Order: sequence, then C-alpha cells, then structure tokens
Amino acid sequence: MALSRVFVANRGEIAVRVLRACGELGIETVLGVSEADRHSLGARLADRVVCIGPASADQSYLRIEALVVAAIGTGADAVHPGYGFLAERAEFARACEAADLAFVGPPPDAIDQMGDKLRARKIAERAGIPVVPGSQEIGTGEEALALAEGIGYPILLKASAGGGGRGIKVVAGPEELPGALAVATAEVMSAFGDPRIYIERYVASARHIEVQVLADELGNVISLGERDCSLQRRYQKLVEEAPAVLPSMAPTDAAVLQERIQEAAVLLAHEISYRNAGTVEFIVDQDSGEFFFLEMNTRIQVEHPVTEEITGVDLVAEQLRIAGGSPLGYAQQDVAVRGHAIECRITAENVEAGFRPSPGLITEWLPPGGPGIRVDTHCYAGYEVPVHYDSLLAKVVARGRDRDHAIQRLRNALSGLRVAGVDTTAAFLHTLLSQPAFAEGRYDTRFVERLQAEGVGPGGG
Ligand code: ADP
Ligand code: ADP
Ligand code: MG
Repeated sequence: MALSRVFVANRGEIAVRVLRACGELGIETVLGVSEADRHSLGARLADRVVCIGPASADQSYLRIEALVVAAIGTGADAVHPGYGFLAERAEFARACEAADLAFVGPPPDAIDQMGDKLRARKIAERAGIPVVPGSQEIGTGEEALALAEGIGYPILLKASAGGGGRGIKVVAGPEELPGALAVATAEVMSAFGDPRIYIERYVASARHIEVQVLADELGNVISLGERDCSLQRRYQKLVEEAPAVLPSMAPTDAAVLQERIQEAAVLLAHEISYRNAGTVEFIVDQDSGEFFFLEMNTRIQVEHPVTEEITGVDLVAEQLRIAGGSPLGYAQQDVAVRGHAIECRITAENVEAGFRPSPGLITEWLPPGGPGIRVDTHCYAGYEVPVHYDSLLAKVVARGRDRDHAIQRLRNALSGLRVAGVDTTAAFLHTLLSQPAFAEGRYDTRFVERLQAEGVGPGGG
C-alpha cells in the first residue's frame, strides 16, 4: 500500500531532500523539529511541523519514544530516518514497526547484522566476500600484540560499534600498541557505549569504493554502480564521485574489479535479506589490485546524489516507493550510467583554525547554478546555523559529460558560491579539486592529509 503521510525524523539538508521527494510523490509530510530548528527550511516546506524537544539531539532527534509518539499523533503511516541520528538504530526501526509505522529503511535484523562491524565481517566472509585481513575482538594487550604480529604493521584499531570515521587508530609498530589500545578502548566506550575493538591490516595506498544497492520487499536487489569517496579527512568523506575511476590499473583489470565489487555488494544484500536503499563500502588496495569489504551503511548516504546524477534514478523516491510495498521501478539491465558526477560537502568550518566549527547567522547566501549543477542545502540568507549539530551546509554536485568536465563545472560552481556570516570549506575544496593528481585520478585516502602537511590550501600554498 502506497504511503500517504511520512514523518521525517531528521533535520538539515536531508530533511529537505526527503520532504521534496514526498511532495513529488503526492505524500503528505510531517517534520519533527527541535526547538533550534523551528525556523529551518524544512519547517517551512513540511505540511505540518511538530516540536519534539529541546535543541540538544539527546533530547530531540535521538528520542525514539518521542518521535514515535509524534508520528502516531500526527497520523503518519511511515517514518523516514534520513542519515545519522537514529537511521542505523535497529531499536528505532523496531519501535516504528511495533507502532504500525513503515520504517523507510531495512528490516531491524539487517540493521543489527551490519551495525556491528565484527558481525558484519563474519557475514561477509561467510558469503565468500573478501574482508580486510584482521582479527576478532581483542581481549588482552598480549593477545593484541600477537594478533598484530600475525597481520603485520602498520595496523588499524577499529571499533566494532564505530561510524562516521570515529574510533579508528593507526598503529605503526608494537611499541605503540599498548598505549593506543588503552586510549582507543576508553574513547570507544564513551563514544559508543561499546568497548569492543578489533585489528585490521592497514591498506597503505587505498581507494574507498562503495556500491549503492536497492532492494524491494520481494527480495529483488539491484546495484546502481560504484562511488569513489577517497578524498577524506580524518576518515571522513569530503568529495565523492561516480562512477569510480582507477587509472592506476589497466582498463580491463579495473573493469573486472568494478564488476566483482558490484557483485559482492548484491551478494551481501541477498545474504542478509536486505530491503530498501543501502551502501556496501569496500577498500581497494592500489598496490595489489585487491578489494576488501569494509562495512555496510543501512540507510541513505550523504553522497547519494552523485549516483542519482549519472543514473537518473531518484533514490529517495525509490526508498519511499519500496517502503510502500512497490516493487523496484528498475531492473538491473535498466540501469545505465551516463557521464560523471562529483559532489563536495561544504561545511561551516574554519579551515585555518584546524576546521573549527563556525556556526552563526548566514548574512549572505548565493548558491551556484547553471547546467549540470545541483545544490542540496537547507541554508538561506538569514538562517542561523545552530551550534548543536553537524556543520554540513550544502552539498554542491556537478555533472559533466566526463570526469574532466565535471571537475571543471564543480570548480566553477565553488568559485561562484557566495556565503557571508559563517566560514566555509569552499575555498579549501576548490584547492583540492585543482590538484593535478586529482585530475589525473592518481590519489588515495591519504591525499588530503599529505597536501595539508605540505601546506597546500587557503592560507597555505
Ligand atoms: P556517509 O553517508 O557517506 O557514510 P557520513 O558517515 O559522514 O557519510 O554520514 C553520516 C553522518 O552524518 C553521521 O555520522 C552524522 O554525524 C551526520 N549527520 C547526521 N544527521 C545529519 C544531518 N541531518 N545533517 C547533516 N549531517 C548529519
Ligand atoms: P566508518 O564506519 O567510520 O565509516 P569505515 O570502516 O567505513 O568506518 O572506514 C572509514 C575510512 O577509514 C575508510 O573510508 C578508509 O579511508 C579508512 N579505512 C578503514 N579501514 C581501513 C583499512 N583497513 N586500511 C586503510 N584505511 C582504512
Ligand atoms: Mg564507512
């Protein structure tokens, strides 16, 4: 049965994105807002707005009970969780189900299976998908030393409950391991309430490549191709593109690799009876040409627009249709890729001050436009960026006939963006996109870190 009224349990640009998709499908909307978001763009666009609590996310966007009560009270028949906040909390999906609300996402069991990285690694292995060589949960420090010795340094310590780039630590040699383990355990416990840590081999020259999948209630699964998200800072994505390009490999080898990665993603989705939109993340070792499963994000992702731009598939509309019980609107052979798309995340941060958050009143907001440019944002002149949340202001996406064209358009778009009142990362992103190595496709996940060490960027060279 098609959805008739959706409760949006999120904020910022993704709330706006979901509200617009609902509007296009003729679905009524209710937006739950915190006290700090009463005047947000989403609050203006929603058919109805309910306040769900004070500014602090703990008391609003993270309160399962309050959100479910608000959804029921406003007569919604479904809940869209967006990304972040409760999107990957099985408990939230279960509470929605128990209240007869369709959760616009996967079944709670799929969230549970993929939300725990140790468990997800086991499931991927069972399905025959290569995972990064690594360990099970680490017990004692001695055990960790022995395991790391077997895997070979450098290694990464990772939190089983981790996400958003948090809880990852590189360890160069055995002398650093005991200290790093103690610090990591404490940090991970306070961030996620779960101390479990494991070891992965550190892939030195890595590309982050992920696959967008869609699965309907009948169990049909399709891949919408890969995205490359290798430009990162502190294990967090800054720039994402589709399709992935791997010029370090022979074209036929790259094509075979990309096909195998997509097959692995679809296989994993089948293995866990996945439903709705999801992303399977992999790491490609550019030295060996191997690929390994990293994790699965059981929700819509920040960078979903680049896939939409090259496939013409509206992923959020598909999420809503699937949650309403419709079969997939596309078969695998209907998915065709055209051109190239690149997205960059503009955040309210001061780059010179070490990316210090820069909340405040936006006094001027002139987004770029023109052919091939898409801006997903909740900002406008007069909007006050609250201190309480994530600093994402906008995602600027450029589509071009090929990668060079997309880069050219995106650089031009970034130059045309005018923001006053808060600091933004736009100039820094422009510098990144202007690097010859980026244009040639020769980079890895440490590219940004290295540039910064060389002093490249605004205020630098
Ligand atoms: P991806 O979707 O590529 O995995 P992230 O892991 O950065 O990218 O996206 C999820 C992150 O987005 C969460 O860790 C959270 O900090 C952040 N987030 C959550 N809700 C919002 C929101 N409404 N607007 C912007 N950022 C958010
Ligand atoms: P999160 O849940 O925080 O997103 P991921 O496992 O997806 O964690 O990893 C985030 C990023 O950290 C990757 O995109 C990659 O840049 C880096 N990373 C993760 N695992 C490895 C690894 N084994 N070797 C090298 N880099 C890694
Ligand atoms: Mg990840």
